[in-house]
Parts: sequence; structure tokens; C-alpha cells
Amino acid sequence: MKTFLSHFLLTLAVAATTFASSSSRADEKVLNLYSARHYQTDEALYEGFTRETGIRIKRIEGKDDELLERIRNEGAYSPADVLLTVDAARLSAAHELGLFAPVSSPLLDARIPANLRTADWFSFSTRARVIVYAKGVVKPEEVQTYGDLADPRLKGKICSRSGSHPYNLSLMASIIAHQGEAKAEQWAKGVVANFARAPKGGDTDQIRAVAAGECAVAVANTYYLARLMRSDKPEDRKTIDGIGVVWPDQQSYGAHINVSGGGVLKHAPNKEAALKFLEYLASDQAQRYFADGNNEWPVVAGVKIDNPALEALGKFKADPLPVSSLAMYRAKAQIIFDQVGYR
Ligand code: FE
Repeated sequence: MKTFLSHFLLTLAVAATTFASSSSRADEKVLNLYSARHYQTDEALYEGFTRETGIRIKRIEGKDDELLERIRNEGAYSPADVLLTVDAARLSAAHELGLFAPVSSPLLDARIPANLRTADWFSFSTRARVIVYAKGVVKPEEVQTYGDLADPRLKGKICSRSGSHPYNLSLMASIIAHQGEAKAEQWAKGVVANFARAPKGGDTDQIRAVAAGECAVAVANTYYLARLMRSDKPEDRKTIDGIGVVWPDQQSYGAHINVSGGGVLKHAPNKEAALKFLEYLASDQAQRYFADGNNEWPVVAGVKIDNPALEALGKFKADPLPVSSLAMYRAKAQIIFDQVGYR
């Protein structure tokens, strides 16, 4: 017993030393950021915060599910102050696990539209899920709505990434929210019946497959398109030249949008710094980084951006559905996709 106790104390002492050495000077302000965003350009975003506040960011990057699991396992001892990730449904998963602390910030409330925030997490950028079609194979008039993707005339023409991917689950959740489960299920069945191949790959793979003639229609997030549009690689130019892009459902709800966002963690040791960081992400400067660096739209109105690809994509009507609704129907979306074989 005695040996066990001393071993335990030794372990504690080692742990304390490790922690002290890794957290450097005691008077230095630090923010521990757990991020599932893995965009190179985010570097500039974080540097901007340190310049402005003197708070150093210690970043831990990981895959979404791993980060959630890690924060859960760390429990009350978690060093994590802020979680940043993409997709409304994932952010809601963190909320449902009770990982976030409620945040009260008049600044965030004033700058972020009400449909893009909740009581404990906030969206900082948006991306739209658009329809991509093969020029000369499909006419844009044929693919004006998500509903068109289930039309039998597109049989054998649709490419898709997995139905289990959050981007597709969130799109399906929006369809359930607008049209109810029965119609959404009919839609999913119709889309599956139109597949050119079993779902595989990411959004960019679908865009390339459309351009290469492996299929003729797909959906993709706008920042993947913008990335290809801004590339000067000849193969990317060819991909972009071969496709057309449609803003879906412009006569009704508007194009489905998803978000990247984050919140302060319940056990955050540096809550004040964490709130400052969220408020920084809503600043004009940070909002511009999202747009110019990663081809996403700012959530804050009136921010001037400088992104030729976003400019070329033009203006569109975005679905105003609250992000919380995407979360509410996510489980249902997965059940229906499983039932209809949208794997
Ligand atoms: Fe993505």
C-alpha cells in the first residue's frame, strides 16, 4: 500500500513538472485551443490574436471525434479553453455532451446573426452546399433544386461522398426540417437510385469526377470549388472549365449553408482569454481571414473581403434555417440514409 502511495505521488510530481515546463512562464497568458480546423491559412488568424492581446495560443489539432472524446476523457482536468470545429451537427454534438460553457457576450450577439449562434457555441464562417454539373451533359435548368437530384431523369448521373459524412447529414437535416421526414425519405431514395457509383471520396473528388465524365451531377461545399478556381494547376483549370455551378433552391428556402464555429469549454482554465478569442474571431480582421484565406463567407455583415473566387461565385440566397435545427434532425437524417442505403 505504502509503495503504491509513493508511486502515485511520484506520478503526480512528474505530471506536475511536465505540465509546468510545457506551460512556460507563469505570468505568460496562454489560450489552449483544440481545433479540428486544419487549414494552413488559420495560422495567420491565430497570430493576429496574439499580436492584439499578448495571449499565446497553444494549439492541439485533431480529428473532430477524437477531440470530443479527448475533452470528455480529460473531464474537469481538461486544459482545453476553446473548441473550434466545422459543421453545425458536430458543434451540437459537443453541446449535447455538455462540453461547452454558456457564454454571455453582447458583442457576439450583436455581430453574429441569431440563426448562426446558440447559447453556448457560435458560427464564425459559412459555406454553401451547391450543385455542380457537367457542362454539355446536363442543363442547368435540370438541377435548380436539391429536389431535382432525386428526379429519375438523372438516373446513373450522380456522384456523392458518403451519406454518413456530416456535410450530407446536415443537408439532409435541412430537408427534413423544411419538408418533413416522409418527403425527405422519398428524396433520399430518389438520389440513391440515381447514383453513378457507390459513394466514395471527398467533395473535391466528386467535382473532379463530374468534370472527368464519371458522373454528371454532384453537391460540394463552396470552399472546395473556390480552391480549385484559385488554383493555377492545369488539371484544376480543366476541372473548373468542365463544370457549371448552381445555387440550389433560390426560388424557395435558399441554398443550404453549413458553418465552422466554436465555443468556450466548460472546464476551461482560461475562461476570460477564451471569451476574448471568440470575440476576436468575430472581428472584421478575423472575419476577413476566414474569407480570404479559406474561401468561406464571414458571418458578420458588411465585412469587406478580397477573394476573387467568392466574388466570381456571386451573390445568392442562403437558407436562413437556424443552425440548431440542423443538429435537431441529424440523428433522423442518419437513420433515413441507412434505411435507403445512402452509405
Ligand atoms: Fe471540408
